[in-house]
Amino acid sequence: MKAFIHAAKIYTGEAIINKEGRMLKPADVSAIADGAIVFDEKKIHWVGTTKELPKKFQKLKATHLKNKNAIIPGLIDSHTHLVFAGSRAQEFARRCAGATYQEIANEGGGILTTVNATRAAKFEELFESALKRALIAYRHGVRTIECKSGYGLDHETEIKCLKVVAALKQALPQMTFISTYLGAHAIPIDQKRSQYIDEMLHKTLPAVKKARLADICDVFIDEGYYSLAEGERILRTAKKLGLHTKIHADELTNSESARLAAKLHSLSADHLLKISEKGIAALAKSDTVATLLPGTAFYLKEKYAPARALLDAGACVAVATDFNPGSCYSLNLPLMMNLSALYMHMNSAEIFASVTYSAAKSLGLQETKGALLPGYDSDFIVLPYDHFEEMYYRMGW
Ligand SMILES: [Zn+2]
Repeated sequence: MKAFIHAAKIYTGEAIINKEGRMLKPADVSAIADGAIVFDEKKIHWVGTTKELPKKFQKLKATHLKNKNAIIPGLIDSHTHLVFAGSRAQEFARRCAGATYQEIANEGGGILTTVNATRAAKFEELFESALKRALIAYRHGVRTIECKSGYGLDHETEIKCLKVVAALKQALPQMTFISTYLGAHAIPIDQKRSQYIDEMLHKTLPAVKKARLADICDVFIDEGYYSLAEGERILRTAKKLGLHTKIHADELTNSESARLAAKLHSLSADHLLKISEKGIAALAKSDTVATLLPGTAFYLKEKYAPARALLDAGACVAVATDFNPGSCYSLNLPLMMNLSALYMHMNSAEIFASVTYSAAKSLGLQETKGALLPGYDSDFIVLPYDHFEEMYYRMGW
């Protein structure tokens, strides 16, 4: 067992848990000044002020932080597309010169560029690039990262990408990887729509379940992607197999897919740029987390998701990078926190919860991650400054 003592502040997040991440006030971060934390390799044993450290722990080997460093839970990036091959830097340059995302997609670019490169890539190549990316996230304070497939759009490549995530779990035990099957990311151009849906339902999903290659199944419901009915069919099949569900919901148009997420008790509904008032009310009443991705709105120059309306209605809100090759090439989660403060008008406890407790809840990990209390995982970071707000005050560091 080990201890850190005289931490400037230890952010336990206890009040956030008690309020299930809803209607948060800045004090809900539950920061303990001049704090001490006792832990072993796996779990936290005790948290409190250094003064109150129980006698039985006083002989432990302790690191003295001189009240210069704050301690927070390891950050959780709850929405990434980490595994893919190729680069779309040229497309980005074209888009910046005036071409629209849709124009590029119509010319066979966009997601198809990535699908072709990912299908052609060897497993080792995909693994090496994903490993490098995971380590970049780690350097930004991320200790748990969700990784989606979705750039294969065929059985073999989707399975190959999920196996890359399984290999990352082995290669980087200092991080927690949550694997999400997103076969329904787009419609492939080399297979009939109905054929591909059948392949997902009857071949890939059962194979994913059997080999335990994913914890969650996600679907992109939108115009030009999957319909509400198709999405519901895929997610109900995934649920029957025992997988959790998520939806890329109400991003480009409103399809009332956030309401579907609430109805299906999905872990989260993500994006929500075009969510309706009914959708907001449905999420606020549900246990489904509203996951917002401000980096994508920034990158695509879109209007940000209505974070304040969701928060004020009582929704539990997570924030993630949405790291992907087309619409947000960033693994810098603190930068997303900065955007959340500046453009989504979230307060410090809302921002803290969005990358700790609420993000954990959106991955089904809220019993063990996202808070610093006895029984929770020994998963925390010692910040190089004495309070948490520095983390998103520094833009893009
Ligand atoms: Zn996404």
